[in-house]
Amino acid sequence: MKNEPTLNVAIMKTIIPGKNEEYLAEALQNYANAQCPVALTGAGISVASGIADFRSPGGLWSVFSPDKYASIDVFHRQPEKAWKLYRALGQALQNKKPNSAHQGLANLEQEGLLAGIVTQNVDNLHQVAGSRHVLEIHGDHQHLQCLNCGDLVPVVPEHYSGDIPLCKHCAVPYKPNVVLFGEAVRHLEEIQELIMQCDLLLVIGTSANVYPAAGLPALVRERGGLIYEFNLEPALAAARWTSHNSGSNYFFEGDLSHTLPSFCKAVLHSK
Ligand code: ZN
Repeated sequence: MKNEPTLNVAIMKTIIPGKNEEYLAEALQNYANAQCPVALTGAGISVASGIADFRSPGGLWSVFSPDKYASIDVFHRQPEKAWKLYRALGQALQNKKPNSAHQGLANLEQEGLLAGIVTQNVDNLHQVAGSRHVLEIHGDHQHLQCLNCGDLVPVVPEHYSGDIPLCKHCAVPYKPNVVLFGEAVRHLEEIQELIMQCDLLLVIGTSANVYPAAGLPALVRERGGLIYEFNLEPALAAARWTSHNSGSNYFFEGDLSHTLPSFCKAVLHSK
């Protein structure tokens, strides 16, 4: 990556595949100049892998309302309810494979062109695609944790049926290692550290309106960094992050399962 001054991009530029090549060229040039590009990903990146956004109609939250199934209080009072949700989520994630958007990010990291991924997803698909530096804000679906002794065990198929598994040390129900409502999010310090270095943030498949993801684009912008957004609608354009910015610098219009892989390819070619 060359150390050249960043081009001035004050307003959001929409990049439409096959059109406005000059914006794309500029976005690629700015990417090449970036010292520490980072990706923030949400449910939208896994839709092409067959995992419906929990918040979408017919998604998990429409079947299991979060306040009845997905809070830490519910887990303490009625662990079987939290487990019902966890098992349904497990079925939704079963046999799902990363798509070319996950792969594109993994390829960038392997070439030293992406410093890390902060993800709201618990589906492990970034890691399966080969990404190594992945910070999972909301935990993961691959482990169970004992809230009493801290024991962390990998999930095995037997955990998906029958009685709720109990900690072998304390005999209390294991909690799925997915962050429930009312629980602290994960890796905040590492995320903070990464974001403080970050001068270019790819915002992918997330409207970033839930803390702490919501604060990250603004932190990058405030320090003079750039935002590249891959969403169906420009979610960050609402200018609610800070008074002096107007959301993303570049908005990639279209299905991100096409726009992101082709952008990643272009970044690799222009290296
Ligand atoms: Zn225990």
